[in-house]
Amino acid sequence: MSPPRPPLALAYHGVAAVRLRDDTYSLFTRPATLRRQIQVLRRWGYRFTTFGDLAARVQRGEGDGYAALTFDDGMADNHSTLLPVLRDEGVPATVFVATAYIGGRHPDVPEVPMLEAADVVALRDGGVEIGSHSHAHRDLTTLSFDEVLADLRRSRRALADVLGEEPTVLAYPFGRASEETRRAAREAGFAFAARAEAQGNWDDPWDQPRQDMHSYSGRLGLWLKRDNRYEPIMRVPFGRIARSGGRRLKRLVR
Ligand SMILES: [Zn+2]
Repeated sequence: MSPPRPPLALAYHGVAAVRLRDDTYSLFTRPATLRRQIQVLRRWGYRFTTFGDLAARVQRGEGDGYAALTFDDGMADNHSTLLPVLRDEGVPATVFVATAYIGGRHPDVPEVPMLEAADVVALRDGGVEIGSHSHAHRDLTTLSFDEVLADLRRSRRALADVLGEEPTVLAYPFGRASEETRRAAREAGFAFAARAEAQGNWDDPWDQPRQDMHSYSGRLGLWLKRDNRYEPIMRVPFGRIARSGGRRLKRLVR
């Protein structure tokens, strides 16, 4: 039997059948693609859990073999499209909501509606962990400690108003966090906080790494992300070749 895989947190946004060329910011994953990725992860031996549970397991040294699917921003399709996929597949997930966006439109893709407060409740009731993605979705590394703390506390209050309890997990907007940002996340009351683009490290509860999933992410990408090899490869020209479809490499991926 192969050894258990390293802990894995994947960062998605929307779940919708958006054409690649219409997806300027690469924010959407097709429902069928998400299902395939869940199946591939299962085949690799992963069990699924929420981000909060994954982070807690990692701190106890029990994170191997566990994967968490996470979804940033709080798009309405997380309720209409993602939730049915999760139900069918029998897997939990975490949705990180930027609370200023609730009931509004996505600032980068204004045609995309965001979750209503009732959808956030329905997701939670459907077994989805709800985390904070800050309130105003600003790059927290550009704000003062006090500004970050105020924004994070505001998002906690907003989610408590909707759900009756404050969230325990946070995903930094754009995955960006300085040492000061992480200190503010801790002081605001979060137990764990997530980065993106494979930044951060599992040893720090407020610096937990996630691998980004894009509309073009295929099985090769997932395979590299599993072992944290994707981002290092993408930093060199070879990565661009792999991204555009290194066929021989693809054959290595089971
Ligand atoms: Zn975001």
